[in-house]
Amino acid sequence: AKGRGRNCHVWFEPRMESDFRFRRELENGIREGLGRGEFVPYYERQIALGSGELTGFEMLARWHSPKLGTVLPEVFIPVAEDMELISELSEQLIRRALDDAKEWDANLSLAINISPLQLRDPWFAQKLLKILSESGFPPHRLDVEITESCLHENPAMVRSILVSLKNQGVRVSLDDFGTGYSNLSQLRSLPFDRLKIDRSFVTELGGESDSGAMVGAIVALGRSMGMPIVAEGVENETVLAQLAKLGELEGQGYFYGHPADAAATREMLRKEGRL
Ligand code: C2E
Ligand code: CA
Ligand code: CA
Ligand code: CA
Repeated sequence: AKGRGRNCHVWFEPRMESDFRFRRELENGIREGLGRGEFVPYYERQIALGSGELTGFEMLARWHSPKLGTVLPEVFIPVAEDMELISELSEQLIRRALDDAKEWDANLSLAINISPLQLRDPWFAQKLLKILSESGFPPHRLDVEITESCLHENPAMVRSILVSLKNQGVRVSLDDFGTGYSNLSQLRSLPFDRLKIDRSFVTELGGESDSGAMVGAIVALGRSMGMPIVAEGVENETVLAQLAKLGELEGQGYFYGHPADAAATREMLRKEGRL
């Protein structure tokens, strides 16, 4: 706890000051970096677990800052959100990713992550569809990932966005499922195409906790609603073997490869004959 006692003071002050300085550096860096195109898409393989076949990629943002080095999205996305620059940042990344993905084999999909803040914009779906049509990338190969936590905020808005996107053939996945305490009847009433089990449940499948039962329950729930399921965070063979017991699933994780930039992804696809 942040007390006001002298001891706490001595302990906290230097850290708070450096936190503050770091924050300012992030804000300035983000503003500049946007203008200089320093934010780039990385791609993580998505796999049909049964056959091991590559089905597509999830785009994950990276920031190559000249000052700070490579920064992960968990650091810069919340700051970009606070600065109200998230939509601009996201649009820049999506344009790049659609451009990259157009080169890939015609069966491969592209998944993108959308911040809850972007869903507050009543024109979100229209804007995204416009970017999509300008890119020439086929809508049915795009997958929009929305986190479970978005559902609390404005379910009616989320519903209308889902409907607009789906009308154009875009798929929508519910991301980080199991972490957001959704209302199950509300979930059933929203037309998601896929359900992504949060990594925290999946990585523990190798261990001794109850997450096996948890993952089993989530899979059963998704199936009962007719939704294909993606397991995130498949890190090793043990986890994969556990998942195999649950039937047909998709998956992604470090076992299949770490997120890679456009050039490395392209090179990989070329070697696999999927370009
Ligand atoms: P997410 O959508 O749940 O993405 C999965 C995260 O787990 C990624 O971290 C990925 O690198 C990591 N990961 C993948 N496989 C494994 C694994 O086997 N083990 C472990 N330990 N981790 C794994 P990353 O790239 O740092 O992204 C973190 C979060 O940032 C994402 O979580 C997503 O919510 C958000 N994010 C990323 N890119 C964007 C973006 O362009 N826009 C928005 N709004 N959010 C983004
Ligand atoms: Ca995601
Ligand atoms: Ca996720
Ligand atoms: Ca996550």
